[in-house]
Parts: sequence; structure tokens; C-alpha cells
Amino acid sequence: MPLTGSCLCGAVRYEASAEPVFSGHCYCTDCQKETGGGHLTIAAVPDSTVKITGPTSMFSKLGASGQPTERTFCSKCGSTLLSRPRAIAGMTLLRAGTLDNPSQITPGMSIYTSRAQTWDQPSENIPGFPEMPPRP
Ligand SMILES: [Zn+2]
Ligand SMILES: [Zn+2]
Repeated sequence: MPLTGSCLCGAVRYEASAEPVFSGHCYCTDCQKETGGGHLTIAAVPDSTVKITGPTSMFSKLGASGQPTERTFCSKCGSTLLSRPRAIAGMTLLRAGTLDNPSQITPGMSIYTSRAQTWDQPSENIPGFPEMPPRP
């Protein structure tokens, strides 16, 4: 089933034709700034499967990995829809809350849990990693 979603105002829509490769929560400080909450929840799909329509802007910043992450957001309402971290090249990380049906995904891990706030603690029901998970 394709993943579809939109920003807050609806001007930007996206569609990903692939099943998520993985899904999870990130508690890093950049994700806290981006979301305004305690963590970000993403669904990862290959870049080549993603189509975006509407007016977008991009912001690039070095992430905790030391490599840049490009975030794509709606030029009208500012909602971030997805990011492309160089550290996991070829993957697009869709913002789970922007999906038309966020209940479609099943987050399987939490990362950067060492940065989690006391008021937003990672779930004990899925694996958690203090920083990035170890490379396979
Ligand atoms: Zn918008
Ligand atoms: Zn993060």
C-alpha cells in the first residue's frame, strides 16, 4: 500500500510507492527543535519511490552524525515533510505525523534515547539505542 501524506495547509502532497524499510523514533536535539516536541517519528523509504508535488523549500544542517541532513518543508505553512540524511544515503525519512494514515506504520526502534526528555521517555516495548544503532 503506498504511503501518502501532506503538510498542515495541504499545499504540498507526497506519495511513496514502497513499503517502509524501517520506522522509528528519534530523540535527538535536532528532532526536538524541528518538531517542537520530545521526539520525531519517521518512516524510511527509498528516495526513488518518493514523488512530491507543491511548493517546497529545503534546509540543510549537519546532524549528530557529522554529516548533513536536508529537510524539505512546505514553503507556505512550514511543516517539515521529509528529510534526506547523508548518513543513510538513498533513504527518505517521511515525517509519520504528516501521513494521511499515520496508523499505517509500526515504529520498531528508538534512537538517540540519551537525549530524551523526562517528559517524553522512549517506549520500553521496542529496542532503544543511546545514539545511532550499531552498523550491521
Ligand atoms: Zn503547507
Ligand atoms: Zn533526530
